[in-house]
Amino acid sequence: MRKLLFFITLLTLNSLLGQDKTPNIILLIGDGMGLTQISAGMYANDNSTALEGFEYVGLSKTHAIKQLITDSAASGTAMACGVKTFNGAIGIDDKNQQHRSILELCKERGYATGLIATSSIVHATPASFYAKVPSRKQYEEIALQLSQHNVDLFVGGGEKYFSKRSDDRNLIQEMSQYKFVKNFREFKNATAEKIGFLTYNEEPPRKMEGRTPDLESLVETSLQKMESLGAPFFMMIEGSQIDWGGHANETNYVITEFQEFNLTIQKVLDYAKADGNTLVIVTADHETGGFAITGGNLDHAQVKGDFNTEGHSASMVPVFSYGPNSELFKGIYENTAIFDKMWFTVQGASE
Ligand code: MG
Ligand code: ZN
Repeated sequence: MRKLLFFITLLTLNSLLGQDKTPNIILLIGDGMGLTQISAGMYANDNSTALEGFEYVGLSKTHAIKQLITDSAASGTAMACGVKTFNGAIGIDDKNQQHRSILELCKERGYATGLIATSSIVHATPASFYAKVPSRKQYEEIALQLSQHNVDLFVGGGEKYFSKRSDDRNLIQEMSQYKFVKNFREFKNATAEKIGFLTYNEEPPRKMEGRTPDLESLVETSLQKMESLGAPFFMMIEGSQIDWGGHANETNYVITEFQEFNLTIQKVLDYAKADGNTLVIVTADHETGGFAITGGNLDHAQVKGDFNTEGHSASMVPVFSYGPNSELFKGIYENTAIFDKMWFTVQGASE
């Protein structure tokens, strides 16, 4: 009840102040990006991170509906759809009910929508925003669901799930309303309303192994494209491989993936500051590796890390927020509340 009153007060305040234009929402998910991953990346970056520019910090409880330690599908679904589910499930709850994602709810309200990942686009985190499947491993089915979706812009690897399928369908040909681009130059020049950029046939390589294009460049160009559609927009941007660095128990892998994500966060924050009506949320789906900083040298920006597991851990993860309604993201809450707060932002501003 207190919460409701608070929301109503906010609504009234917003309308009194005339801030009734629906805000853009940009959700940045660092997969496996716990507090130690952020700290390590920060110390390795001369003790600085773009996250210091955010207004509010909160903490999110990441557990799945039954399992204490979540996977990216259950946690992605929690943030995208606002429901706790079992590990491996995407867009459906433990009673097999499908749930609409914040991206889909935004789309219904006239938002433009975009998804960008440094994994394949059918991987659990991005899939949580458009697919409904009991298992995250159903990559071909997830690709099929994306082909029948109406996301305006998507960037990520995994082309083979669209064009070299066991059912012999070529989804790229079927998706005739999309302009598919083959490289960054084509992506920049594309003026179509719907754009697909499948960056790699399989999972994209590590940043350390030369993954291109840079996430920050992809995001900068995508922001221009989103803006050009003339509607408010929702975007989810994932730093996918921070998690894979944790699984590999490789400190340098974690740090180099974080550094690219950090540059991307800075680009988004700069955009939001200039725009004035963009809510930015940066968080993680869980921590990976039970990562700890066990040594290093501040003057030389060196970090020595150690790991407790090759899997995920159940630590809470930080949530950083900036822009309209950013104050809603302070405190401690379940990861499903991230959906609630975004959905409130979309509804609140248009009613
Ligand atoms: Mg992921
Ligand atoms: Zn993982």
